Amino acid sequence: MILAHKIALDPNDVQETYFRKAAGIARFAYNWALVEWQRQYKAWKADPTGSKPSDPALRKQLNAIKGDQFPWMLEVTKNAPQMAIMQLGQVFKNFFTGTAEYPPFKKKGQLDSFTLTNDPFTVKGHTVHIPKLGGVRMHESLRFAGKVLDGTISRTAERGFLSVTVEMPDPPRIHRESQAVGGVDWGVAALARLRRLSKQFSRQREAAKVRAGLQPGEPIPKGMHVPWSENMQKTQRRIARLHAQIANIRANALHQLTTMLVERFDVIAIADLHVVGMLKNHPLARAIADRDFGEFRRQLKYKAAQRGKTVAVVNRWYPSSKTCSSCGYTVPKMPLSVREWTCPDCGAQHDRDVNAAINLRKVAESSMDGCPSPSA
Ligand SMILES: [Zn+2]
Repeated sequence: MILAHKIALDPNDVQETYFRKAAGIARFAYNWALVEWQRQYKAWKADPTGSKPSDPALRKQLNAIKGDQFPWMLEVTKNAPQMAIMQLGQVFKNFFTGTAEYPPFKKKGQLDSFTLTNDPFTVKGHTVHIPKLGGVRMHESLRFAGKVLDGTISRTAERGFLSVTVEMPDPPRIHRESQAVGGVDWGVAALARLRRLSKQFSRQREAAKVRAGLQPGEPIPKGMHVPWSENMQKTQRRIARLHAQIANIRANALHQLTTMLVERFDVIAIADLHVVGMLKNHPLARAIADRDFGEFRRQLKYKAAQRGKTVAVVNRWYPSSKTCSSCGYTVPKMPLSVREWTCPDCGAQHDRDVNAAINLRKVAESSMDGCPSPSA
């Protein structure tokens, strides 16, 4: 599961100026690439022997000309323009699969951001270290541990934020003492009790049949009425009560899990249908059945919306493992045994899981920029 933590930054004046500049350059590169994309697409329509526009080609093109034409781009991390174009490529990809609108131009002051993906930035305590810039103070420290994949610096209402994407191999742990877990343990006991009561009811039914003159195990002949004993009625009422209690426990566990997730994390990228499997070892998951996934997703979405957070539910057919997170190239096959691979197109080396995680994060990010998520 990939989760993001958004932390307010307290930059000094020099850093503040740098952020503003980097965000401006990212916006410029994005808009430049969008104009080029449209121009090259038109040219390709007129003459299909040429090549279609793509974000890797546009990134190469910008790299080749920026020193001459946009020398001020060199003043900030090269990730700012590069990642902006990759992001545009992602929005186009979503557009072509019908899951996003045609990319709009970025306006100054609207979702100003730049991404640090490939920079070796590090988070330590209350400080994030950014190459070329040094330590920037964070308003709070990271709330959870995991492998830091990348970071995005964005500005809202004149305040800078760092969104760190963290990959968590296991779902977040909850204290055994918490109510939810207690409820679930109780739920398991309730299921055992339910089985016991059902057996008891069958026994009582057999006894009633014998009292009515039938042999043990003999089916009740058509038209014959075997009256229920008082004990049978009592057992039946207990079973009904227990069924209602179990449904409650299940509903509570689901609510507690979704609330916990949106309270602790700012971006939650999940692949549909994999969630329940992902949470298999989570104590709460014992109370949640596969069929609850739709409800899990519904709750996650509305609770995230209430808190201004993002849930990206990625189609399970989205080839997050087969797509190169550096250039967007998709390899035809990626057997599960392949843990590391090299992109045949750009030569980037990938750890299978980290690469998939970065792709999912990008889908989440493009949905944060005002495009509907693939599931919307
Ligand atoms: Zn590649």
